[in-house]
Amino acid sequence: MKIRTKITYQFTLIVAMILVIFSVALYYLLESYNKKEFNNYLKDRAVTTAQLLIKEKNVDRKLLRIIDRNTLSSLYAAEVLVFDENNKVKYSNIESDTVIYYSPELLEQVRQKKYLESDYKNKEVVGLMYKDQETQEDYLILAQSEDIYSKQKLENIKYAMTIGLISAIILTIVFGFVFSGQSLKPISRINQEVSKITANDLNKKLSTGNSKDEIAQLANNFNQMLSRIEKSFELQKSFVSNASHELRTPLAAIKSEIQVALEKERTSGEYQEILKSLNIDNQRLIQLTNGLLQLAKSDRGDKSIILAPLRIDEVLFEVQDELLHQHLNYHINIDFEEIPEDDAFVTINGNKSLIKTLFNNLIDNACKYSENKLASINIRSNKSNCIVIVTDEGIGISKDDQEKIFEPFYRTKNASNYKGHGIGLSICKRIVEIHKGRIVIKSEENKGSSFSVILPHV
Ligand code: ADP
Repeated sequence: MKIRTKITYQFTLIVAMILVIFSVALYYLLESYNKKEFNNYLKDRAVTTAQLLIKEKNVDRKLLRIIDRNTLSSLYAAEVLVFDENNKVKYSNIESDTVIYYSPELLEQVRQKKYLESDYKNKEVVGLMYKDQETQEDYLILAQSEDIYSKQKLENIKYAMTIGLISAIILTIVFGFVFSGQSLKPISRINQEVSKITANDLNKKLSTGNSKDEIAQLANNFNQMLSRIEKSFELQKSFVSNASHELRTPLAAIKSEIQVALEKERTSGEYQEILKSLNIDNQRLIQLTNGLLQLAKSDRGDKSIILAPLRIDEVLFEVQDELLHQHLNYHINIDFEEIPEDDAFVTINGNKSLIKTLFNNLIDNACKYSENKLASINIRSNKSNCIVIVTDEGIGISKDDQEKIFEPFYRTKNASNYKGHGIGLSICKRIVEIHKGRIVIKSEENKGSSFSVILPHV
């Protein structure tokens, strides 16, 4: 069911319920008020008749009966019966052939309660006791009549209320439908605009209008989300094109080397040379694909990565060992002096393979981008973090480049003479984020750089 129809239904239901409750309450209130008023009238009639008959002994009863029948509007005609102490009718204002119902139990109840209001077959009945002050005799008076006037009035009110109720419900449906349509118009507009946005035009934006209401907020949030999606699409596109470019270079080199080799017959020494060169290019390809795989792995999110307590100093020694084996010209100094004595201060909750990759990249860069191939490592800690600083005296990084070097495939101009693909630091950044830490760079061109990795310890 559409929201518009739903709102109209609910709106109508609520209004109809309120109107029905209000009308029913009003009807019953009127009915009880009328009943009370009519009973008061009957009571007055009973008392007047009693006073005329009992007090004014000279009143002609026949005349009284004639007056009773002719002077009162037929709507207010009441049958009045006066009983003596033995329940014998002393006076009645009705014709002798009129049938009138009353029971001895009713008379008994009136005698007990002194005053009684009751109803019998559409008629209101009032019974009361009256004492003649002269003779001290007790009389029982019954007055009864049908409240035709009130019943007609109530019937008319009921009719008017029903017509009013039906009209009000019809009007509520019409207004509810128009009103909900108006309120939902901006949502329908957003709906139409959104349906026109495809993956190719993520730069399109929803109009937010002039208002600052919830709909404008929704459109704003949606626009922000579109911008984020667009940015991440572009990042992905540039990543794929950068990655294919990086992969194509060694592949093209391999292809041309093979072509050159096949041009003519070669000596076995020449073949060996060609194979060595092919091996180097192949090695570059393996390194690059490994890097891309690691980047993809670290991008997969925190959930798939298992973290366990890990001693940072031990990881650093392992990395030092491996790098020195791979690159005989590298020098890596780890500063033992400042290593904290408390194990907890150098223990983090981390993933060993990722943390090794992190320091491997940083230390490798420090050696690679400096003349003396020296990386100095310092471990320290404070109350909450373990800090590892990797320092070199190499080519340095300009202020402008310091932010950009963490983007995939970004390489500084002064690094163009050094081998690399520009993905190591983006992997480092992701790894540090996964471990809820951060990296801070301090660097000056031609003087050197220091990368501080700050990770929360256990
Ligand atoms: P790669 O070293 O393979 O190019 P990285 O992502 O590790 O890729 O580094 C990105 C870029 O940051 C490098 O190309 C280089 O320009 C710069 N860089 C990284 N580390 C250093 C360093 N220690 N000294 C100078 N420049 C560095």
